[in-house]
Amino acid sequence: LAKDAGKNRYQMFDPESDRKAQAHRKELELLRHALDNGEFVLYYQPKVDLENGDIIGAEALIRWRHPERGLLAPDAFLPLLHGSELENAVDEWVINTALAQASAWHDAGLVMRVSVNVSAGYLLAPTFYADLARALHRHGNVPPAHLELEVLETAAIADMEQAVAILQRCRQLGVHFALDDFGTGYSSLTYLRKLPVDTLKIDQSFVRDMLTDADDLGIVEGVIQLATVFERQVIAEGVETLQHGAVLRRLGCRLVQGYGIARPLAADAFPHWCRQWQSDAAWRALTEAS
Ligand code: C2E
Ligand code: MG
Ligand code: MG
Ligand code: MG
Repeated sequence: LAKDAGKNRYQMFDPESDRKAQAHRKELELLRHALDNGEFVLYYQPKVDLENGDIIGAEALIRWRHPERGLLAPDAFLPLLHGSELENAVDEWVINTALAQASAWHDAGLVMRVSVNVSAGYLLAPTFYADLARALHRHGNVPPAHLELEVLETAAIADMEQAVAILQRCRQLGVHFALDDFGTGYSSLTYLRKLPVDTLKIDQSFVRDMLTDADDLGIVEGVIQLATVFERQVIAEGVETLQHGAVLRRLGCRLVQGYGIARPLAADAFPHWCRQWQSDAAWRALTEAS
């Protein structure tokens, strides 16, 4: 930090910030150990098409199987990685692990797209494209179009020029892109027109509250219309009840994801869930109603 402040300036030694920096280094060490030690796992949350009941994909969501504290959600540790080298390593691990899983499912006849979340830092990192190409090559039986990268809307617009260039390059490999948490990041229509993404993911906060809040309903409707105008796909996250599903379907959003369909599942529970979903009577009725 003192170095960043410039060579000609003196930095007061601050015991408090020094203690914090040390604690952070320690946490990063533990996370590095967790990665090397295979303590990270991916859970998979299904994405379905309410028009026909098809399972269209699964989003990979990281968890830390902590030896003492149990299964930790990403909010408990991802923020510590923010902007570090290790964040890139974790994101790369996620891409490779999700592709390995997709590859195994492919061989078992479970063919669908997997989505992974990519941090802004990694998306813009110089190694990103080569890492991605290598991962796709390594799992050659997975069509690149079966990999979707979810990028935060805020990340994509933080460095527009570079994001557009990277997205274009990666799309030539065949991978898809979705703008995650869409609606939370003030992206103007001009931005959206420039960004080569396939899908808009309506942020769950709007979806969750749209049944009781007219403004949120308006935003959900607006994003669906935006997607139509710009010829992008649209998916709603945070679909917690049948009623959410019914409203979305009526508004023209057929792709959904949320606790109401399924919570994120351990990889080995996923195929079983798929078999059960086919016979889920309540959602069946919804997908058949018109
Ligand atoms: P996200 O990408 O927007 O993922 C959706 C989050 O909402 C997930 O939380 C999911 O479990 C949760 N969720 C899904 N359906 C519902 C619902 O119906 N109701 C509610 N209340 N929540 C629902 P999770 O797994 O805790 O992940 C949180 C965030 O952490 C993700 O938000 C994503 O931004 C980040 N993240 C997760 N895994 C990874 C990863 O492998 N790499 C990176 N870079 N980020 C990740
Ligand atoms: Mg996501
Ligand atoms: Mg999201
Ligand atoms: Mg989120």
